[in-house]
Amino acid sequence: MKITNDPNCGWINNLPKRSNIKSLNNNLLCDYLIVGAGYTGLSAARQLANDFKSKKIIVVDSQLAGEGASARNSGYLVDTTLNDGFTSNKDIEHYKKKVEIYKEGIKSVHKFIKEYQVDCEWNACGKYFASSQLSDEKIALNFSNLLTSLNFNNQILNNKDLNNRLGTKFYKIAVYTSGGILLNPGKLIRAMVDTLPENVELLENTHLDKWEIGTENIICSFKENTISTKKIIFCTNGFLRSLNVRKNFSFPLTLTASLTRPLSKNEFKNIGSPKEWGVLPIRPMGATIRMTKDNRILIRNTAEIRDPNKFPEKFLDYRKTIHLNGILKRFPDLPKDIIESTWSGIVCRSRNGSQIFERINKNVFAAGCYNGSGIGTGTFFGEQIALMASNQDSEKIQIIENRVKPRRLPPEILLNIGVCTRLFYERLRARTEI
Ligand SMILES: Cc1cc2nc3c(=O)[nH]c(=O)nc-3n(C[C@H](O)[C@H](O)[C@H](O)COP(=O)(O)OP(=O)(O)OC[C@H]3O[C@@H](n4cnc5c(N)ncnc54)[C@H](O)[C@@H]3O)c2cc1C
Repeated sequence: MKITNDPNCGWINNLPKRSNIKSLNNNLLCDYLIVGAGYTGLSAARQLANDFKSKKIIVVDSQLAGEGASARNSGYLVDTTLNDGFTSNKDIEHYKKKVEIYKEGIKSVHKFIKEYQVDCEWNACGKYFASSQLSDEKIALNFSNLLTSLNFNNQILNNKDLNNRLGTKFYKIAVYTSGGILLNPGKLIRAMVDTLPENVELLENTHLDKWEIGTENIICSFKENTISTKKIIFCTNGFLRSLNVRKNFSFPLTLTASLTRPLSKNEFKNIGSPKEWGVLPIRPMGATIRMTKDNRILIRNTAEIRDPNKFPEKFLDYRKTIHLNGILKRFPDLPKDIIESTWSGIVCRSRNGSQIFERINKNVFAAGCYNGSGIGTGTFFGEQIALMASNQDSEKIQIIENRVKPRRLPPEILLNIGVCTRLFYERLRARTEI
């Protein structure tokens, strides 16, 4: 078995090709095995390698490191999210814990890019939670009040303000928050791969098929070889379930996104030459859409239940049409052949939107399940799960432990029906926002 992603991701294809890629080709023994080389796994590896110079640390990934969701996302490093539900005091307490984690996530990514002088097109330009429906004004006002009560700088904007700032008349109401960063996720995750400490062995195109706890070590089976490890950290996010890790607490969702070519000088001028911006939808299944630093438009407006190991490339054409319609609804003068790339990626969801961070057994650990906010949370959780796995204490682990824990999922058949019904309902509710 192997994870097969389409080769179309615009962020990845704009990066230099990598060389010196190693795979597992003999049996190995190590102190720490990290499975999954996205934000979570690479941060965990960096933390362990810096703390324990003489321990043997291996990271394996089924595909090329960082080329799963970590390079395929929309590039919002968030400080707040809207779709959390916060009507009671209890919900507000939960929300506070969530944003505390986001804050730590931003700090972790910022520390990384400072330390390694990474250019990932970091732009602390904030973001817009927007809707094309004035009937969403009440949600926007409630959210704005919540943000104000938690000291987040924010502003309610109307259609005219939004047209001036975004270059589209589509949106009628938005909450603008000045926190949050837009970045190029491909460049960020590539820098995490390139700067892995020398005492980490990275093995790519190396798919973990099975693992079992032996008397002394954990025995991990790959196609032809095994790795015996003292400790294992699962950082496989949407694939935790397929590895039988906290199987009843998370499930994968497939998202697809498209990136246009850069707008021409005229096209850009015609929409008012806006500065880089990012919009998140007020209605959960609406479009995430951003104008990038080099004047491309990125859009993501589908989420579906699929086999996470493979999303046939031919399926992308239909999603591309949905993306194009979303772009043309907002920017009717752009040409129909403006999309340059369309790709899919896997995110991980839990029933109540909470993350996984756990010691599963004395020597088995897992971190993941961040839905659409894994850039910061994954980087932060990776560092902290490494501390936990090496029996180090940290105040930040407490911040994570204080979160609401993921709720158990219903049995598989009910889960599929439940998720499909929910997605259908949300899509219907957000039909004007796609
Ligand atoms: C289209 C899209 C848009 C998104 N937008 C945003 C956004 O704007 N902001 C944000 O913060 N987040 C966003 N996300 C979510 C974010 O990308 C993820 O939360 C984040 O990448 C999770 O990082 P990770 O390291 O935990 O997992 P991943 O990046 O998924 O890495 C897990 C790795 O595990 C490997 N793996 C799985 N199974 C095995 C196995 N058996 N053996 C070996 N290796 C294995 C996979 O190949 C993969 O590389 C988006 C995701 C998608 C797909």
